[in-house]
Amino acid sequence: MYPKQQFYINGQWLAAANLNDTIQIKNPANGKLIACTPSATEQDVDAAIAAARKAFPAWSATTAEQRKLFIIAIADEMQNRRDDLAQAITDTMGCPIEHSIQVQVQDSIDAFREFADMVGFVDETEQQQNMTQYKVAIGVCVLINPWNYPLSQLVGKLGPAMATGCTVVVKPAEQTPVQDYIMAEIFAKVGVPAGVFNLITGYGHKIGAHLCAHPEVDMVSFTGSTAAGVSVAKAAAPTIKRVCQELGGKSAMIITEDADLQAAVTYGVEDVMFNCGQTCSALTRMFVPSSCYQEAIGIAKSAAEQHIVGNPLDPNSTMGPLSSAEQQQRVIDYINIGINEGAKLVTGGTELADELKSGAYVRPTIFADVKHDMRIAQQEIFGPVLCMIAYADEQQAIEMANDSIYGLASAVYAKDTPSALKIARQLRAGQCYIQGGYFNTLGPFGGFKQSGNGREWGREGLKEYVELQAVFTPE
Ligand code: ADP
Repeated sequence: MYPKQQFYINGQWLAAANLNDTIQIKNPANGKLIACTPSATEQDVDAAIAAARKAFPAWSATTAEQRKLFIIAIADEMQNRRDDLAQAITDTMGCPIEHSIQVQVQDSIDAFREFADMVGFVDETEQQQNMTQYKVAIGVCVLINPWNYPLSQLVGKLGPAMATGCTVVVKPAEQTPVQDYIMAEIFAKVGVPAGVFNLITGYGHKIGAHLCAHPEVDMVSFTGSTAAGVSVAKAAAPTIKRVCQELGGKSAMIITEDADLQAAVTYGVEDVMFNCGQTCSALTRMFVPSSCYQEAIGIAKSAAEQHIVGNPLDPNSTMGPLSSAEQQQRVIDYINIGINEGAKLVTGGTELADELKSGAYVRPTIFADVKHDMRIAQQEIFGPVLCMIAYADEQQAIEMANDSIYGLASAVYAKDTPSALKIARQLRAGQCYIQGGYFNTLGPFGGFKQSGNGREWGREGLKEYVELQAVFTPE
């Protein structure tokens, strides 16, 4: 069992103000208790923010080169602790261990390292006539993260914060705090100045408002559900602080009549089943021409049925459990909603083999005959559930794809890249993956509409962490 009963504040491990209120973390593969962390109070929040505030002047005055060396040292130590980080993620949220090692951890380490080359961003100036535009680190940042990609989400916020000279208070999801504890150990080992990185664990509904409303916080970067994002923005509004949000999604993939159907449908199914559908940008609505709809259903069924759902520590498993029993129930409820709405269950569903009954498992599920106004086609399920929707012509497909409160990601599979691009440019979503393209952390990640505000990763991600100062001279 993971032992820490403390928070990392001001470079020290401090006991929580209330040690009687704890968060119990269960392994979703078997329901066993694996960790117990303290549930922060407002007093703990105040202590963490005070530490970050105190550290800010000196940290923001470090040179780019000094911050670069710290980022590299942290990345090196993350590399040394790679297996611990991966084990923590598999144990707490259930993704297969090989996936944890490569996608959840190694990719995050590599992405964190990229920020070492971005430390000069805050020193870049722009000059026009008598005006010089400077950048200034925004200050104390609160970083609130979800449980689906717990390390990657932390890195996407921590990297730019460190590169620009901001200090942070980190609050991981209550279900997945362990990798953040390891990160705190890494910060301590590397000797990052006290107060630059502060960690508290707690429930969003208990301390979220206090964290976001706090007058000593300059910026909140939040990833999570749209409902929680609304609460974050409301709490932050009275102090006019910047809020960067990456929220829900119900992303659409359009396949055209002349696309390679086998490749397109397989890509779409794999995208949804990746991380058991617990990816905010998952392409959960697949739009297929009526003329090849039945063929596409057959391809999707066979792609889904190739998955091996099982113990995440078994190297043969391609899908583990969902992240928690609550999440499993939510997905099962949506599968029942789909059946009741009249969608056709092609494969998957709510039944489980006996050996999977002790964990939060859900089989890869495909729905066909989905109408785009059904709840399963409009609401974010956050599980391995794909909705296949037939369309008559391309314009109709684009309209249905855009008819969503969300606008996070999208995809197009057409005859070739130029044809796909033409459709991509008509989709109201922050990213579009064409012809099987994949995400690269140099690109800005974020959404239109209720999928969020602001962007993470790349240069655009750095902009969230700086204020601009324009200086005017007489000539
Ligand atoms: P989920 O429902 O999938 O757990 P949430 O959006 O509730 O997703 O949680 C994502 C993160 O947001 C977690 O760290 C959680 O503690 C936090 N959170 C939840 N509600 C709030 C809130 N009102 N204010 C701030 N953070 C919150």
